[in-house]
Formats: sequence, structure tokens, C-alpha cells
Amino acid sequence: MTDFTMSKDAEGIATIVWDCAGKSMNVMNFDAMMLLDSMIDDVLADAAVKGVIITSGKKDFAGGMDLNVLADLKNASGKEPAQGLFDGIMSMHHALRKIERAGMDAKTNKGGKPIAAVLPGTAMGIGLELPMATHRVFAADNPKAKIGFPEILVGLFPGAGGTTRLVRKLGAMGASPYLLEGKSVAPAKAKSAGLIDEVSADPMADAMAWVLSASDADLVKPWDAKGYKMPGGAPYHPSGFMTFIGASAMVNGKTQGAFPAAKAMLSAIYEGAQVPFDTALKIEARWFTNILMNPSSAAMIRSLFLNKQALEKGAVRPTGIADQSVKKVGVLGAGMMGAGIALVSAQAGMDVVLIDQKQEAADKGKAYSAAYMDKGIKRGKATPEKKEALLDRITATTDYDALKDADLIIEAVFEDPAIKATVTKAVEAVIPEDCIFASNTSTLPITELAKASVRPDQFIGIHFFSPVERMMLVEIIKGKETGDRAVAKALDYVRQIRKTPIVVNDARFFYANRCIIPYINEGMRMVAEGLAPALIDNAARMLGFPVGPLQLVDETSIDLGAKIARATKAAMGNAYPDGAVDEVVFWMEDQGRIGRKAKAGFFKYDDSGKRLGYWEGLGDKFERLEDQPELTEVQHRLMFAQVLEAVRALEEGVLMDIREGDVGAILGWGFAPWSGGPLSWLDILGTPYAAERCDELQAAYGDRFACPPLLREMAEKGQSFYGRFDAKSEAA
Ligand code: NAD
Repeated sequence: MTDFTMSKDAEGIATIVWDCAGKSMNVMNFDAMMLLDSMIDDVLADAAVKGVIITSGKKDFAGGMDLNVLADLKNASGKEPAQGLFDGIMSMHHALRKIERAGMDAKTNKGGKPIAAVLPGTAMGIGLELPMATHRVFAADNPKAKIGFPEILVGLFPGAGGTTRLVRKLGAMGASPYLLEGKSVAPAKAKSAGLIDEVSADPMADAMAWVLSASDADLVKPWDAKGYKMPGGAPYHPSGFMTFIGASAMVNGKTQGAFPAAKAMLSAIYEGAQVPFDTALKIEARWFTNILMNPSSAAMIRSLFLNKQALEKGAVRPTGIADQSVKKVGVLGAGMMGAGIALVSAQAGMDVVLIDQKQEAADKGKAYSAAYMDKGIKRGKATPEKKEALLDRITATTDYDALKDADLIIEAVFEDPAIKATVTKAVEAVIPEDCIFASNTSTLPITELAKASVRPDQFIGIHFFSPVERMMLVEIIKGKETGDRAVAKALDYVRQIRKTPIVVNDARFFYANRCIIPYINEGMRMVAEGLAPALIDNAARMLGFPVGPLQLVDETSIDLGAKIARATKAAMGNAYPDGAVDEVVFWMEDQGRIGRKAKAGFFKYDDSGKRLGYWEGLGDKFERLEDQPELTEVQHRLMFAQVLEAVRALEEGVLMDIREGDVGAILGWGFAPWSGGPLSWLDILGTPYAAERCDELQAAYGDRFACPPLLREMAEKGQSFYGRFDAKSEAA
């Protein structure tokens, strides 16, 4: 074990260097923490040591806790996983508290040894909790470094004292962006916010000077000094009361109570604020154990951290294919999608040729990037030089000849197979033989579109979500003849633009839209049945969806829904199952209530497009049921409509990897993140119960809820999805 090494110099400074072998970033595990603890014992006992510096041997300080370790700790604790977790967490608290007290006398607070942390770069999670336990934190003036607590974003909260220390340092209000939103900031901002103490060009020298000159008083944390009062007030202080009431309302308003970690963290803060520091740490440990025992956090860590990262690192990339990084990409169609694709490609440093039918349309597409960068400059996130450099990389033109040295084409012209076929032929006449051609179609089968290509093995789908620069998922679609190099190219491109890819086989609506459409449709069926629109949308929001199905329809517009319905009906004939949905869709279209863009949809809008509440006319057409169903019933209908589609996609081989099904759902359409994704949710329910619910829903609402054979079989065998398909990453 060499994660930490220690050296002592002639002046009496012990330097502890964190440097995990074979890793580019330090991550903490329990053994390393105990090693650090034994080094602290050593320096506190060694009379020759005057002070200590803890730093990193890498360009960054640390990325956080090794999340696999939390799962291992739980599994290793046999029949008492909660006790095992609690004990493990408390041992970290003891180690960090020992650093904080540094041998001081408990009563006089005198006689401790100064301990400073030196952060050369990024310090996240426990990589910040450890420095916060020292007496002074010095960071290098490195604007690229990120300092913060991202735990909440994967369903956790800082559980090694970070929550308790930050609230005691900044007050509940000051700490809330960092704890509740997982905000991370550059060192200068971290200093002004009070997360760290110093930013300097030579933090090591400054820390050494500080250690040699620190007085007893410099080492005492405010909460260990007499008369400590929490900034902003503790819960029963008049101003603290307002903050805590407000925080509770804000968290519940934002999360609808769907995220257990946010609630648990708030409880730890509220309860911890009313007791002495060491008791507060114990309370924090209890709530942290509670969260680690919740299947939601295990599923969130698995999908949003471990599997998301695995997919980004090429977990499903075909083997044996050389690097396919893109240098020059041709984007066809400079409309809404093409403009966004050009922007993210240029941001990744690629040369971009942006083509449309008319020069002004191409210019307009490029202007989108200019406007985006202008916004960034206003917010201090970009510079005029960066804007110029980015725009220099985008050539807006109508001339296909500009594509002759492109190595990837992404087509985003109108959703019309004939136009797409013409464009494919025209482009293939110009591009190099090994260039890969990708279509951004959202509904047309790739295998069909590839028929226009003379190189169908080099033809693939790269499906973005709107708005391109904000949505993190990219769905890569393999047509029947798509070859491995095309898949590798698409994956390498997605890695370059720093998004998360999933690779699926070709089928109607691919994966994401296939699951979103039944969600939207279920919402509209409920309208036809006389359910209150607020019940429908709120049921979804309380499940953690960013917007309910009716609001989603208003955002994407009813005419798009009507267009898709007509095309699907034409393709499916008598097998078309969505008549009840069309009753709502076509009627809304007839009423001209096509959504936000018309300032009239399921909602009423003011002139600026602000929602004013649900439109009453809906209740006149679809008589409101006197007895509205239970919330859970509505939620189960909305959830099962989606997750059964995900199971069918897996059964049919559209989904090839359950990790992609879960990660894709959360990133692609905001599927209840706390659940870890549709397949994780079925595992949380347990397949036997899920199959039983299918039977009940089918009897009550129709065959769309029929239990898929795969789920039935798994229920009978008592299997879980992650047990059967991905034993390795089964959530703890
Ligand atoms: P859009 O109408 O905003 O843009 C299409 C652009 O293509 C227009 O600027 C048009 O002038 C141009 N164009 C048409 N024919 C052309 C040709 N022969 N040569 C060059 N340019 C031509 O449409 P959009 O929303 O950007 O969608 C583009 C594609 O992306 C469609 O296939 C759509 O299904 C798909 N898509 C859209 C979304 C979405 O949310 N809008 C999401 C994913 C995928």
C-alpha cells in the first residue's frame, strides 16, 4: 500500500504525499485512509515534527472516494451491512477529526501541531473533505481546477464530515449551492466562498511558511472554540429558522421529494446543527449509512457514475479498430440540429463544414455558434479570442466540394427519406472513400436510409437530442449492414465532444424515442379518460421527471406528435394501438392548441410564452372523473409504459447492454434518476412484483401493459436484470 508516503525534513515539517499508483487521479479507499491515520499518529507522537503538509504527487489533489469501495464495504459486512457501513464511516470521521484536533488539549485547545493541505489542482468529494479537516488549505492558482462536492449528483452527499464542516463554516445558506446542487468552482471562487483559505502561485512554499509560524489559536476550528455560533443561525435562531424552513421548501420544491439523498442530507444538517460537533458527525454518519443502504443510491451510483463512465471510456467499442478520432466533420443541414452539431464539434477542436441549400441558411446556422459564444463571454465563461478561434473552425457554405477531405459526415436535413437519399448520393460523390456517413434522423430506419449509400457498411445513425449543446446523450444506431469501423468512428466522435454514447440496433424509434412516446401517450390517454391534467403531470414530476408528459407535449408541439402518429399509423395499419391517444392529439391540433410555440396547448400562456395553468377547455371536451385515481396508480401507469418498452427493446436485441438502457434513459429523457434507470427500477421493485403489476395494469388498462415474456421468465426464476445480464456491476 503506497497511496500515501511521508518524509520529514530538517526544519521539522512532515510532508505526506498522496499518489495512487497506476491512476491518473487520486481516489480514496478505506485502507488508504487508515494508512494516513497511522502517519498522523506517527507525526503527532514525533517530537521532532513541528507541523505537517498533506499534498498530492499528481497534477490534481483527488477526485473523491472510490465508489466501488462503498459497495464492497457493505458486502463485506455480511448480515449487518448497515453496522459495517456505519463503523467504516465512523473510522473515517475519527481519522479526520484526529487531523483537525492535531493533538490539542481538549480543554485549552493548546499544544496541537499545524497541519496544512496543499492542492495542486482539482479537489472533489473526500478530496475536499480531507483538506477541510486540516487547519489551512492552500490551492495553486489553477483556473482549470475544480473544487467542490459533487456527491449529490450521483445520489449521495458528503459523508466524511464535509456536510457538517461546510455548514458550520459557511452556514446553511452559504453551503447550500455546494451541498445541494453539487456546484464545483475554480480555486479563486472557492476561496471567496470560504471553501478553502489561500490561492497562490507557490502554495507549497506558502504552506510551509504558515506551518512554521502558526500559533495555537490558528489551529482551532471555530466550532471547537468557545462561544461558536453557526453563521446565519442554527434552526431555532430567528434568522436560522427562516433559512432552514426555506431550505426544506426549496429542496422539496426542486426534487419533489423524489431524491432520498437530498432529504437525508437536509436531515443531517438540521439535526446536526442542534448538537455539539462530534455528535453532529455521528448523525451525519447515520444518515449517510441510511443513504448507502437505500437501493436508490446504489442504482444511481451504478448508472450515473460507474456505468456512465464505462460507456464514455468505450465499454461497447468494437475491439481491434484503430483510433478513429475525427478531424474534419461535414454537417449537412444548418437548421436547429445541424447548427448545434456544428457548435459542439467546433468546441471539441474539429474543423467543421456546415452546409445548407442557401448561403444565408448556412450562415444562420453558424451564427448560432456566435450567439452561443457571446452568451458565454457575457457570463465570463468565454473570451472574444476563443469565440474567434471557434468560428474560424466552422466553414458555412453551399458547396459540397468543401467536404472532399472530411472524415465524418453528419446529415441533419429535413426528415424526408427522399431528400436524405438525394443528399447521401451527392455527398458520397465527393467525400473520401473511407469517410463515415451518419444520419441524425429521429424516426427513419437507418437500414432503409443506407439503401441510398454505395457503402452501407460505412453508414450509421448518430442521433442527438435537442438542444444539442445541453443534452448529454448521443444514441448511435447500427443499421443491418453497418460495420464495426463506423461504430468505432461514431463512438470516438462522441468521446471527442464529451458526451455519453449508447449503441443500439435499428428499429422503429430506436431506443429513447421508443420509450418516451408511450410515456407521452399514457399521459394523453389519461386526459381522454378524464384525469385531471395536474394529477398527470405532477405524478411524473414527483417521480423525478423534469417535466410531466402534457408539459412535454406542449414543449415539443402537438403537430410533431400528430405527424408521428400519422406516419406510424400508415406504417402499422390495423395493428396501430394508439387510437385513444389520437383522439386527444388530433382534437388539440384541430383547436390550434399545438403547444408553447402557438402559446396555446394543454397549458395557457401569456404573450411572453410563460405558462399560466392548464387550459380549462380540456375539461369541457373530456369530462373530468369525479373520483380521480390514486397517485401511485397514475405513477405506475407512467413508469410501466416506459420500462416495458425498455424490456421489449432488450428482448428484441435493440438494446444490447442493460447499462446502455439505464444510462440512456436518464440522460436521454430524464427518466427518474433516483431509480438508476428503467431496468434498475424493475430490479428495485423485484421482477416477481413487477410481473404481478403488469397483470393488474393489463387487466385494468389494456394489452400495452402485458408482461413481456422475458420479464415473466425472470419473475418465475426470481432473477434481477443486473444479476442476469450484468452480474459484474450489480448494484450493492
Ligand atoms: P430543421 O428544419 O431545423 O433543419 C433542417 C435544415 O436542413 C434546414 O436548414 C434546411 O434548409 C436544410 N436542408 C434541407 N434540405 C437540404 C439539402 N438538400 N441540402 C442541405 N440542406 C438541406 O430540422 P431539425 O430539427 O434540425 O432536424 C434535422 C434532422 O434532425 C431531422 O432528420 C430530424 O428528424 C432530426 N432530429 C431532430 C430533432 C429535434 O428535436 N428537432 C432531434 C433529433 C433529431
